[in-house]
Amino acid sequence: MVMQVRGYAAHSTTSPLGLFSFVRRDPRPNDVVIDIEFAGVCHSDIHNVRNDWGNAKHPMVPGHEIIGRVTAVGRAVTRFKHGDHVGVGCMVDSCQHCKPCAQGLEQYCENGNTLTYNDVDPHDGTPTYGGYSESIVVSEKFVVKVPKNLSPAAAAPLLCAGITTWSPLRHWKVGPGSKVAVVGLGGLGHMAIKLAKALGADVTLFSRSPGKEEDAQRLGARHVVLSTSAEQMQDVSGQFDLIIDTVPYVHDLNPYVATLAMSGTLVLVGYLGPLQDMLDTAPLVVSRKAVTGSAIGGIAETQEMLDFCGLHGITSDIELIDMQSINEAYERMLKSDVKYRFVIDIASLRREAAAA
Ligand code: NAP
Ligand code: ZN
Repeated sequence: MVMQVRGYAAHSTTSPLGLFSFVRRDPRPNDVVIDIEFAGVCHSDIHNVRNDWGNAKHPMVPGHEIIGRVTAVGRAVTRFKHGDHVGVGCMVDSCQHCKPCAQGLEQYCENGNTLTYNDVDPHDGTPTYGGYSESIVVSEKFVVKVPKNLSPAAAAPLLCAGITTWSPLRHWKVGPGSKVAVVGLGGLGHMAIKLAKALGADVTLFSRSPGKEEDAQRLGARHVVLSTSAEQMQDVSGQFDLIIDTVPYVHDLNPYVATLAMSGTLVLVGYLGPLQDMLDTAPLVVSRKAVTGSAIGGIAETQEMLDFCGLHGITSDIELIDMQSINEAYERMLKSDVKYRFVIDIASLRREAAAA
């Protein structure tokens, strides 16, 4: 059985995304076949398409915030059945035997995990294609259950924006009494605020954009600090136990380190690469502050986050778009003009594909 699938692909770093036909593999014994309903649009999709990280493989079908229905399962699959509502995030495989994998930290797999798109399947050497498509075939270990009470479209961003902010909140044991700050109110930032608040933390937003105060407060932030105001930054000096920095591009970390409390930690989840402004180590030594990073989250942790969201009724604030609007959505995201995550209705792709 050859499964011919339509998706939207970028053929180069500069070409707009457009309709693309490709083949999904026959399900292996452990595979789940999923009809995709919704796919979130992550800033990483733009980084990947435009080769910001130097490893772009085109044609590229982005998308790693996937929600859909199971349509078939391999004979060894035990956890899923036809009709289940499921999610797939940033990874579709990992070695399963290294120390991080054994600890449920597949995102740090020592032998290299397999990303949902822009990667190569380790078993058959074919390219991985992501969620901007009609269906996907994924090993059941990398499929998670989506709580029934969550809107499927608004739950899609939990698969990346949700888990990427949940993982550091949990690792640094955020709870009642914690003072957490979030840098940047975009897809990741707005989920960080919601999740930190639901965990009981006192939450502050750092934003360079005036006008986001009301939204930030509605999402759960008690304070909003305009990061371009030296005076406002000074007012929160030495306050935070944990800062989650979601800014996608190079920026000066020193002003944020100054707002950490003793033993506080600044976690980068956005920018990857060298810094331009020198990082002053004095506050790190004198006040035992730390600057570190964090990548997505493990599969068990993703399920934990989804269950928590189910319990607390947490989803993403989304703008539902048609597949055909993806190029415009990228331009808007680059201007931080999205409240607060674009999600693609894959039915619009099916309609276009049927008419083509
Ligand atoms: P997004 O929706 O575009 O939000 C980023 C926010 O950062 C913007 O809303 C803006 O907030 C702020 N910002 C944007 N450009 C900036 C600049 N030049 N200087 C200062 N602030 C800026 O992006 P996202 O989808 O949340 O993703 C954020 C980053 O996380 C991306 O780099 C993405 O690749 C990365 N990511 C990492 C992981 C991981 O595993 N670590 C997973 C997913 C995504 P304000 O307007 O409020 O300032
Ligand atoms: Zn992402």
